[in-house]
Amino acid sequence: MIVRNNHDRIITMTVRTRIAPSPTGNDLHIGNAYTALINYVFAKKYHGSFIVRIEDTDRTRFVEGSEQRIFESLGWLRIEHAEGPDKGGPYAPYRQSERLSLYKRYAEDLVEKGFAYYCFCTPQRLEEMRKEQEARHQPPMYDGRCKRLTLEEAKQRIQTGASYVIRLNVPDEGTTTVHDEIRGNITFENKRIDDQVLLKSDGYPTYHLGVVIDDHLMNITHVIRGEEWISSTPKHILLYQYFGWTSPVYAHLPVLRNPDKSKLSKRKNPVWVSLYRAEGFLPEAMKNYLALMAWAYPDGRDIFSLEEMIEAFDLSRIQTTAPIFDREKLLWMNGQYIKRMDSNELAKRIYDFFHGYYPYNQILIILPLVKERIRTLKEFENIAQFFFEEPKWLEYTLTSDDIKPLIDALEDAQWTHKEIERRIRRKAEELGKKAKDIFMNLRVAITGKTVGPPLLESLELLGKEETLRRLTSIIK
Ligand code: GLU
Repeated sequence: MIVRNNHDRIITMTVRTRIAPSPTGNDLHIGNAYTALINYVFAKKYHGSFIVRIEDTDRTRFVEGSEQRIFESLGWLRIEHAEGPDKGGPYAPYRQSERLSLYKRYAEDLVEKGFAYYCFCTPQRLEEMRKEQEARHQPPMYDGRCKRLTLEEAKQRIQTGASYVIRLNVPDEGTTTVHDEIRGNITFENKRIDDQVLLKSDGYPTYHLGVVIDDHLMNITHVIRGEEWISSTPKHILLYQYFGWTSPVYAHLPVLRNPDKSKLSKRKNPVWVSLYRAEGFLPEAMKNYLALMAWAYPDGRDIFSLEEMIEAFDLSRIQTTAPIFDREKLLWMNGQYIKRMDSNELAKRIYDFFHGYYPYNQILIILPLVKERIRTLKEFENIAQFFFEEPKWLEYTLTSDDIKPLIDALEDAQWTHKEIERRIRRKAEELGKKAKDIFMNLRVAITGKTVGPPLLESLELLGKEETLRRLTSIIK
């Protein structure tokens, strides 16, 4: 990518983007999948690298197995990372818990330079302070008591074994401006920025310290993340200044919303990628739908490939208005991908989805009858199960008076869908009944359901023997 550097020189740089998920949830959150997609596409567009770093320093929220599931979901989506804890790379380790000694060193360095300070306030004191601020309707912030200690005093206390944290020394005056590629400049008053804890008493860094050090050491050029991190960014900018490093380019993506505009939540939409996988969504449809969350293809089309997106993508054209994640629209899009997919490929996906339960060749034969009617891989089972096994129950009850005329009509029929149709119509006429009703009885008797794939073609495929066997077994 060609850019202008701080000294107004034109330079080329290798774009490096990342996601830095914390293993604190079940799996990859849909919002993180969205962020991953944009980071991936942006990196690819400029022939750069997309990497994954695991930010696992919050041990209280750590969830066992979460990291592994995050990688499984990224792999399923085929949002491929070039470096990460599972793959290694030139900046390993990529898991923050394996980099602990590093953070402490950098934090102490900031203390020596006066950009950070030791703080000995007890949790009780901080709690009282918070309550008082709450009572006065003030935002919760550290009041700076330990900032007034001299470095010698502080070091003496540490020698006597006092427990401490290291805090960021935010200037009391002035402002800090974040330049965001999507939102422009956002200016924060320093007096409203908290003296953030950088290093906790257990020696672990907080997110703020870890993220800045690692983004710098891993040569991340563009930090593209959710807008919930905007208020943290001035703290990060101060850290870059204090360390004497150039900060990356920032872009904060809008947070995805439910159709009623509330924040994406479990109650209204499944939030974990694995749930969509289990529902039979296709990874390419998921990516296509996510792409549309805050971005539009220049010519307005809905359906495009990842390659087309990479070609047309422009970060500055991301919208800041809250994008709506609507499961119904995703279903529609998934259906479109299914319709357009090559049948051999689709049969393979269905075969894999059901772990080989339905034979591939039979799926392939049935597909022309159901392809237009399913929106997820899982729906294949709803609509096509009757081809493989007799329905366990019928949507409405059929008596032998309903069934006998059907057997009578079909018993010696030549087994083509045209002939089946002719026979049933003739029977309906004979009985003075509506053909529609007789067809419906036949459908329910064979498939168990009132809706499904084209009946006559389905019967032709199922075969005469099996059709008659099912009819007879109902009477019995
Ligand atoms: N660890 C943060 C998270 O859980 C990373 C935020 C960022 O991208 O800076 O999302």
